[in-house]
Order: sequence, then C-alpha cells, then structure tokens
Amino acid sequence: MSKKVLLTGDRPTGPLHIGHYFGSVQNRVAMQDDYDSYYMVADVQALTDNFNNPEKVRENVIEVAMDNMAAGLDPKKATLFIQSQIPQIAELTVFYSNLVTVNTLKRNPTVKAEIAEKSELFGREGESVTYGFLGYPVSQAADITFVRSEVVPVGEDQLPMIEQTREIVEKFHRIYNCSIFPLPQAKLSDSPRIMGLDGNAKMSKSLNNAIYLKDSPEETAEKIKTATTDSETTISYDPQRRPGISNLVLIYSLIHNKKPGDIVKDLQGVTYSAFKSRLASDLNAHLTPLRNKRHELESKPHYIKEILEMGREKALKKAEETMSLVRAAMKINY
Ligand code: ATP
Ligand code: MG
Repeated sequence: MSKKVLLTGDRPTGPLHIGHYFGSVQNRVAMQDDYDSYYMVADVQALTDNFNNPEKVRENVIEVAMDNMAAGLDPKKATLFIQSQIPQIAELTVFYSNLVTVNTLKRNPTVKAEIAEKSELFGREGESVTYGFLGYPVSQAADITFVRSEVVPVGEDQLPMIEQTREIVEKFHRIYNCSIFPLPQAKLSDSPRIMGLDGNAKMSKSLNNAIYLKDSPEETAEKIKTATTDSETTISYDPQRRPGISNLVLIYSLIHNKKPGDIVKDLQGVTYSAFKSRLASDLNAHLTPLRNKRHELESKPHYIKEILEMGREKALKKAEETMSLVRAAMKINY
C-alpha cells in the first residue's frame, strides 16, 4: 500500500527556535517514517511580507533547512525543496484565485491578525495591504495540493489556512467535475504554543524573546536566567495566573517527555534560581546532539544545496503529474 502524502514547511524569515522545535519540528520528524513527506522552505510566502528584503529571505533558506536536518529530518525519507523552484505552485495559485472571494480572504482571522501586526508595511488600518499578502492563503492551498497532500502538520495559527484549502478543493472538484485531491487534514502538535521568555504570548523570531536551536549553551543559560517569572517563591503550573514560570515548567516537561502538571511535583521546594540552572543544563543536554549535527552541517552548505536540488527534481515530477490532471479538468490541456 502506498503511503499517505504529508506536506509541511517553514518561512525562511529567521533561524528556528525551541517554540518551532517543540511545536512542529519534532512532530514532522516523528511522522517521516510513516508518510511520503515533503518539507518546503516557503520563500515565496516569506516574500509576501518581506518583498523589500530579499537578502533576509535568501540567507534564511539554508538556515531553516539546516535546523530541520539537524533536528532529524532525514533527506533519505523526506523530500526537502524550495517553494520558488516549483513554478507549478504559482500556476495553481492563479487557477485557485478564481475560486476565492476577496471578502473571504479579508475575514481570515490569521491574515487579519498579521495585517494588524504589520502596520508599518500595510498601514494602520491595513489600507496598503498588497494583493500578494492578502492572497497568501490561496498560494498555501497550492503548496498543499500540488503534491496532493492528505496531512499537514501545523501550529494553531495555521488552521484557517487548512480550512481555506479544503474549501478550494471542494469547489474545484465541484466546478470542474473531478476528484483529483484528497481533502487535507491539519495535524496539530501535542505541545501547546511556547510563549516568549519575556512573557509575550508567542515565542517569536522577531521579538528577541526566543532560544534559538543554534544558540550556544552559554547564551541559552543566560536567556533562561533572565526570563520573566514573578515574585512568588514556589514553582507551580498555572498558565493563566502565572504565565512566565509555567512556560518554563512547560519547556522542562517537554524535555523530559512528561505532562507539566506531573513534573511540577518534582520541583517542590526548589528555588527559582536552582530550577533555572537545572532547566538550562537539561535543555542544553537535550539539544547537544542537534547542535553538534548543526555544526557539522554548517561546514557543508553545498551538501544542503544538493539535498534541495534533489528535492526539487522529485517535487517537480509530482507537480507535473498533478498539473496534467488539473489542466485536463479545466479544459486547458491544448
Ligand atoms: P513568521 O513570523 O515569519 O511567520 P513564525 O515564527 O510564525 O515566523 P513559521 O515559519 O510561520 O514561523 O511557522 C512554522 C511552524 O511553527 C508553524 O507550524 C507554526 O504554527 C509553528 N510555531 C511558530 N511559533 C511557535 C511557538 N511559539 N510555539 C509553537 N509553535 C510555533
Ligand atoms: Mg508564521
């Protein structure tokens, strides 16, 4: 029996942090044995809000691929490729754009929140939002479907994109009287969202509140030492009332593969500073194999490029297969 197809990816907007690692990378590594897995570096999507900073996007293509490989994504099992190298995704995006109304895109909750966050780029009321940014969920539907993916491991913020993809697939099948694509399903990770070390709701590349996978053990320890907690003295897991310390307990529990409510019992009577040093040394120990592998990969960027080139060839074959079905269904197979 052939394996189900899985597609996932990262935007090359910065190196990955432990929020990405526990939130999605671990999951995709665990699934690569059971699925025909595609991993995409979403450079075209990154350009929708970084079109004026192409150097940043280019620099981070190798970074995010390297972080994933260091974490265990195995090029023998998964196909790694760069979005812009598959022109069929752009072609499919154009066809799908007829099936989605502008109002639906404006109502997408993730798109709405991101437009509000990017007021410098898109204006205070979003009045300067570009056609490309507003349409990125359509392009994401093309990413997911060009390999005819069934499973898409993502974080919570991506659920509206998967829903949009399902709507496009259903409409495409109805209008063009065909059945080319599976209805894709989101696969959420078991780990909830990791907060920033500064108490912000999201650990983020852009807020300087993250522990990067590539940080040194010393940088990691220093960041944990200065992480926001509170003025209480006992350690408990209570994310609503005590978000800072609970986030550290959550990270600690993920390293030890236990539930935060359980692991907190081992921390009774431990001071904040003793807990923080224990967390730093355990996190560093947990990340050591990944960091060693990353150092090894950093010395051979050509190897990463070769992997991405091999992935491009495989993804292109799949893309052409899908597009011949699509063009026939749309009666443009002249
Ligand atoms: P950007 O700001 O450029 O969008 P990002 O940090 O949101 O960057 P993405 O490349 O958009 O990263 O997302 C990669 C994956 O990591 C997604 O599935 C997302 O849901 C997940 N993710 C991102 N931040 C966190 C976090 N703090 N905790 C858990 N999962 C996260
Ligand atoms: Mg994002």
